[in-house]
Amino acid sequence: MAEILKNDWFYEYFTGNAKFGIKIKDHFIDTRSEFQKIDFYDSYEYGRFFTLDGFIMLTERDEFIYHEMLVHLPMAVNADAKNVLIIGGGDGGAVRELVRYPGVRHIDMVEIDRMVVDLCREYLPQTASKLGDPRVSLHFCDGIAFVREAQEKYDLILIDSTDPVGVGEGLFSQAFYEDCARLLAPGGVMVNQHESPYYEGDAVEMERAHKKLSSVFPVCRVYQFHMPTYASGHWLFGFASQDRDPLVFDAAAWNALGLHTDYYNTELHRGCFALPNYVLRRLGKA
Ligand code: SAM
Repeated sequence: MAEILKNDWFYEYFTGNAKFGIKIKDHFIDTRSEFQKIDFYDSYEYGRFFTLDGFIMLTERDEFIYHEMLVHLPMAVNADAKNVLIIGGGDGGAVRELVRYPGVRHIDMVEIDRMVVDLCREYLPQTASKLGDPRVSLHFCDGIAFVREAQEKYDLILIDSTDPVGVGEGLFSQAFYEDCARLLAPGGVMVNQHESPYYEGDAVEMERAHKKLSSVFPVCRVYQFHMPTYASGHWLFGFASQDRDPLVFDAAAWNALGLHTDYYNTELHRGCFALPNYVLRRLGKA
């Protein structure tokens, strides 16, 4: 839920009793697509940012953290990944990081809401500027139906989704995870948006998602990162695979690629799977 006050602060309610505020310069898009409410803002601290149904999706200032951790960690593990599927990801940030790998030959990006992509292309070129890369095929349809019907095999599947409400809800279902598992090539890896462990409402969603994911994939691990504008700032991704251990990777080979990053590095890769005790307990691992 969002609130805009007359003194130009945007607030997102993290719970009924805690909210996060950004002082805004401008609220320049206030519209609704077939699927969701879409707002774009400009701010002093976080640059431009946009919200879907009142929830912050990305800000120019901290999106690098989310997108680097979403893409580079699985690419370091499955370094030969050639064929990639992204579900959601309409802002283009995941694509921007993926096309930096010359070995990636094709990316299918499945985004339900064309209006998100069009607005990001116009107002957020920082993330959307690589959506025209010739290796990228954009599909404007529901990711749930896409994976149900797809026959192709993917080396990497990234679920870059909204939270488990509204159009994004089915992207956290067991049936959806089963379809993704069927589409993974041998050695393939899936990374999904795994919510936050901190506030009770988010933590319950995290537990649910983790249980379902664990019942589908033999390897199901969780890694953490710091995301200042998401609820509590403590956010998780799930790493799922039939057979890949996320900690077995060639750090020297990844470093030799010479990719400049501002958050991800191979030391952090090793450390981000070490979770606090309260998170381990909620995941049933302590
Ligand atoms: N980084 C963001 C976060 O975690 O807050 C996610 C950003 S990305 C913009 C999420 C995208 O998923 C949205 O553009 C939304 O339209 C898309 N999406 C939600 N449900 C979907 C579905 N069922 N199929 C395909 N895309 C979907």
